[in-house]
Amino acid sequence: MIDVHAHLDAFEDVKDVIKEAKKRGVKKIVTAGYNLLSSKRSMKIANEFDGVYAVVGVHPENVEEVDKNYLEDLKSLAINKKVVGIGEIGLDYHFTTETKEKQKKMFIDQIELANNLGLPIVVHSRDAMGDTLEILKTHTPKFGGLMHCYSGSIESAKELLKLNFSFSFGGVCTFKNAKNVCAVIENLPLEKIMLETDCPYLAPVPHRGERNEPKYIPLIAEKIAELKNVSLEEVVNETTENAEKLFNLKNH
Ligand SMILES: [Zn+2]
Repeated sequence: MIDVHAHLDAFEDVKDVIKEAKKRGVKKIVTAGYNLLSSKRSMKIANEFDGVYAVVGVHPENVEEVDKNYLEDLKSLAINKKVVGIGEIGLDYHFTTETKEKQKKMFIDQIELANNLGLPIVVHSRDAMGDTLEILKTHTPKFGGLMHCYSGSIESAKELLKLNFSFSFGGVCTFKNAKNVCAVIENLPLEKIMLETDCPYLAPVPHRGERNEPKYIPLIAEKIAELKNVSLEEVVNETTENAEKLFNLKNH
């Protein structure tokens, strides 16, 4: 299994966290940066451990902290061999809409960086699906994209499928109040689905509220198997193949 979205730089005991995950069959992890410092840390962790890869980028909530050289800085990280994408990037209007225009520009600039470097993107979109879709339609990623922790509608998911996007799901789909997310999973083809934790946040049931770790990925795989009414083995094989393909893991 592959955890396509983790924040390994949040862990003091990252070595043990990776070891525990591998013990439970989570052989590969893509760790995501959310600003320059976190992207740099993610790249270092990827370089240190087998089976760990990084995506580097600036999360929309950190739009105010970047300086004019950030794209150059990101590029110098992105050319590292273990860096497999640009992320997490996107739009987040949950806490403020005041930075909307800045967020949009930063999103577009980072999509273009990914296109120039031949890398896929990992998108975070919260309370901003309309603008997210609009940007992705006019600035479509050329090397694929992943909507992480997707919480949008089935209709938006269909639009994103046309743009060749995949979707990753984590702990939220195991929550009792997750009817919307579960309905989306039921409607998506398995070849567009991947597994994620978004750890250390959003631990799945029965660990809800605790620290999340990649070792809980099997719980997500089980839930998706149940929702799609297929075997666990099929979910494991298919989601692994999907992640290997999007991030071109065999060549990194
Ligand atoms: Zn994340």
